[in-house]
Amino acid sequence: MKPTALRVTGLPAAPGVARGSWVRVRRHELPVGGRVSPGTVDAEEARLREAANSAADDLMALSERVAGEGHPDEAAIFMAHAAMAWDPTLLDHAVARIRDVGDDAVTAIQAAGAVAAAQLAALDDPLLAARAADVLDVADRIARLLAGQPGDETNLATPAVVVADDLSPSMTATLPRERILGIVLEGGSPNAHAAILARAYGIPAVVGAHGTIEALGAAGPGAQIALDGATGEVVVAPDAAVIAEFDGRATRAARRRATDVAETALPAVTIDGVEVTLLANIGTPSEAAPARALGARGVGLFRTEFLFLERATPPTEDEQAAAYREAVRAFGGDPVTIRLLDVGGDKPIPYLAVPPEENPFLGVRALRLAHERPELFLTQLRACYRAAVAGPVKVMAPMIADAGDVVLLLSLAARARAELAANGVPAGDVDLGVMLEIPSAVLTADAWLGDVSFASLGTNDLAQYALAADRGNPALEGYRDPTHPAVLRLIAMAADSAARAGIALSVCGEMAGDPSAALALVGLGLRQLSMGAPSIPAVRRAIRAVDHQTLRETAALALHDRSAADARARFTPLLPAT
Ligand code: PEP
Ligand code: MG
Repeated sequence: MKPTALRVTGLPAAPGVARGSWVRVRRHELPVGGRVSPGTVDAEEARLREAANSAADDLMALSERVAGEGHPDEAAIFMAHAAMAWDPTLLDHAVARIRDVGDDAVTAIQAAGAVAAAQLAALDDPLLAARAADVLDVADRIARLLAGQPGDETNLATPAVVVADDLSPSMTATLPRERILGIVLEGGSPNAHAAILARAYGIPAVVGAHGTIEALGAAGPGAQIALDGATGEVVVAPDAAVIAEFDGRATRAARRRATDVAETALPAVTIDGVEVTLLANIGTPSEAAPARALGARGVGLFRTEFLFLERATPPTEDEQAAAYREAVRAFGGDPVTIRLLDVGGDKPIPYLAVPPEENPFLGVRALRLAHERPELFLTQLRACYRAAVAGPVKVMAPMIADAGDVVLLLSLAARARAELAANGVPAGDVDLGVMLEIPSAVLTADAWLGDVSFASLGTNDLAQYALAADRGNPALEGYRDPTHPAVLRLIAMAADSAARAGIALSVCGEMAGDPSAALALVGLGLRQLSMGAPSIPAVRRAIRAVDHQTLRETAALALHDRSAADARARFTPLLPAT
C-alpha cells in the first residue's frame, strides 16, 4: 500500500517552500577517546593545545574563504568559532580533565565542550542558548584533529532537501548551497546558526521537526518531502493533493515576491495623500542593502547588540566604526539610526561581568550600564561620530527613564566628540535621540523631550512594561497585544509630546511591522515606522489602501476601547484583501 502523507509540525526557520527528494546528512562519526597513559600528561596537554591552535587556523581560513565568497556575516561566525578554539576557559577545562581525571586529549576536549554547551543551553536567552551548537562544533573539530579524522564535505549529487538531526554551522556552510532545495532539522532552534545561515542563503528551512526522520524511514527511500519554512510545516510522502497545495504556495510566494519588488519605488501614502516613511530594523550591516532593496528609506533601528555577542572582548572602536559605516554607505544618503548597546543581566556577556539579576528586564540594562561602564558607551559613540563622516547618522539611547538619563546621554556624547576632536579624528554630525519604551519616560516626556532631536517608541518593551506581560513568555501571547488601548494611549501621549517639542517620533517595535497595528499608529499621528524589512511591502500596501481621515477617527475610538481585541478589530477590516 502506498504510504499516506504524514505531516510534522516544526518551527519556521527560513521562509520559502520546497519539495523534492531528500538526503540525510549525518553528523560525522565522533572520534572515541580514552585515558591518558601515565607519564604522558604534559605531552597530552601539548597535543591538545596544538590541535586547538590548528583548529583555530582552519577556522580563520574558512572565515576568509566564506568572506571571499561575499558572505561577511557568515565569515564572522567562523571568526567567532576561531575565538572559541582559542578560548582559555574551554582549554583550561579540558587540560584539567587530562591532569585531574586522566582523560586523553580527545575525551577531555569533548567533555569540556559538552559542559560549556550545557551551560549555554541552560541560559534563559534563546540567542545565547543557541550558541551551544557552536561550542560543540568547535570541540568536535579539535577532537577530530587529535584523532587524525578529516573534516567532512557532504556530497549532494542532485538537488535535494537536506534532512538531519541537527546541522553544525560549519556543516551548513560547507554544504553545496546550489543543490540544497531546503533544510529540515529534527532539532535545532530558529536562533541557531544553521537557521541564520539558511536565512542568509535564502534556503527554506524548518527546525524542531521531531519525527521527520522516522516518518521518512517508514515511507521508504523513494518518498518525497515538502516543507514550508514560513509556517514550519513538513510533509513526508506528500500525495497529489499536498503536492498541488505546496506548489500553489510556492507559486503564490514567487508572485508576492515579484509584486513586492515591483512596488518598492511606490511611496507609502494614504488615499488622501498622507505619506509615511518606512524604515528598516537591522541587526548587522549586511542587512542594510537587502532592506534598501525592499524599499526602506533608511534605518530606524540598528540593534548593535549582535556586534557585542559571542566575543571575549567588546568590539573595538575601529571595528564598530567600520560596521556602522557599512550600513551608512549601503543607504546612500538616507539616515541610519544606531541604537546604543542594549544589554544587561538578561544577556550575560562574559566581559560585561554584570551580576545575575532576579528580574533582568527591570535591571541594570542598556543605558543604565553606563554608570558602571561609561567606556563601553564612549567607545560606541566615538565610532558613531566617525561613521557619520560617511553619511547621515542618528544615535539613540535605549531604556531612557526620564530627563536624568537624557543628561547622561548628552554628556557621554559630548565627551566622545571632544575626545575625537582632541585627537584630530574626523567626526560627522550626529542627531541624538531617545527610545521611549518605559512608561515613566512617556508619561514625563512633555517636560524634557525638547532636549533631544528625535524619539522612537520601542513598543515591544513599552507593551511589556505597561501590560505587565513578559515579552518572551509564550503563555502570555493574549496579554501583550500592543493595540491594547492602554498602550495606544501612551503612544498618543508620546505623539503629542513630540509634536509640542517639534521633534520627529517614529516607532521601531514589532508593532510597526504588523499591518493592522501600523494603521492604528498612522491614525495616532505617527509618520515614521521602522520594521524588519520583509514586513515593509505588506505595511506599504495597507497604508496605500486607506484614507487617513478614517484612520484618525478609528484611532480616536480605539483609545477608549475595552481591550486589545476590540481595538484591533477596528483596524483589521481596513486591510486590503491579499
Ligand atoms: C522595543 O523594545 O520595542 C525595541 C524596538 O527594542 P528591542 O526589541 O530591541 O528591545
Ligand atoms: Mg526595547
